[in-house]
Amino acid sequence: MVITEMGDYGHEQVTYISDPEVGLEAIVAIHDTTLGPSLGGTRLRPYPSEEAALTDVLRLSQAMTYKAAAAHLDLGGGKAVIIADPSDKTDEMMRAYGRGVDWLGGRYITSVDMNTGVEDMEVIAEATDHVVGREDGLGDPSPVTATGVFSGIKACCEATYGTESLDGRSFVIQGIGKVGRDLATSLAEAGASVTVSDIDADKVATFADTHGLDTVGPDAVYDEPCDVFAPCAIGGVLNDDTIPRLACDIVAGGANNVLEDRSHATDLMERGILYAPDYVINGGGLITVATEAENGTMADAIEQAEAIGDRLAKMIKSAEEESITVLEAADRYAMARIEQAE
Ligand code: NAD
Repeated sequence: MVITEMGDYGHEQVTYISDPEVGLEAIVAIHDTTLGPSLGGTRLRPYPSEEAALTDVLRLSQAMTYKAAAAHLDLGGGKAVIIADPSDKTDEMMRAYGRGVDWLGGRYITSVDMNTGVEDMEVIAEATDHVVGREDGLGDPSPVTATGVFSGIKACCEATYGTESLDGRSFVIQGIGKVGRDLATSLAEAGASVTVSDIDADKVATFADTHGLDTVGPDAVYDEPCDVFAPCAIGGVLNDDTIPRLACDIVAGGANNVLEDRSHATDLMERGILYAPDYVINGGGLITVATEAENGTMADAIEQAEAIGDRLAKMIKSAEEESITVLEAADRYAMARIEQAE
């Protein structure tokens, strides 16, 4: 069953790590190392079954291959899952997991993800060098992610309106978290009119008051007329229900897995809405950990994130020329990098 699923996704290697004494059950999936060692976070979740964990890690690691290639990084795609309840996480478990990562000899570099943080990376680092997202590393990647999204938005505006100027453009930002708030302030500073939304009503009210922004409710967010809708909260927000409601020209934001299904990219195109593929425009986070892995500086990471707009512009152009979605153009761009390296 594992080998069949590996074949379906095109994985190079899947490693199971078990240490019953410390309650460790982990799966590391290395999707493709053509461009370089695979890099991706370790997600810790109480999966309902081993099969569910396997499917998740295969899907996530494949996505990392595309994300790294599209971010112009010499890295491959990998990801790991630890099947455990967050309350059962111990240092012994993380150390044992670190030894498992070390056995892979650098083919997989790990980092933070859902329910794993900087403190866990420090424990893992006791057992392996192949870990980033550390205390003495580059820190929270969110500001760099927001920088990349800002750069990508300018490229989308240039393609749609013939100018990358944001002065007077209207934005609706869904989610005022680590990425959304930095994006909101950068857009406002550039002269845009910004409306913010969040399920945390107090948080969004305080943020809007502080920065003099408008707000819209979490459900009404899809109907709010604007030039650019920037999803910066959770995945799956664009689907059969919400796409017909959108009153924008562009969708470009930091959230992962914005589309409930790939086919929704076509639905957006048919509605005349330019969709910036999430894995391209939010690549700043991966760029930051990759820069840390190469002992680079925050300035290096920001410089690379600022180049996201130029790459996205090329993808938008080839999508127009070939009458395909920008998502397909992005996939082709990523695949072309891998095929060239091969
Ligand atoms: P965060 O947890 O700091 O913020 C998310 C915000 O969204 C919170 O304020 C939360 O209240 C709000 N939210 C949740 N559900 C919502 C809903 N249904 N409607 C409106 N608001 C809602 O997260 P973040 O680090 O800012 O990341 C945001 C998104 O960007 C996530 O999808 C994340 O996977 C993605 N992303 C983040 C980074 C990064 O560097 N932080 C990098 C790449 C991708």
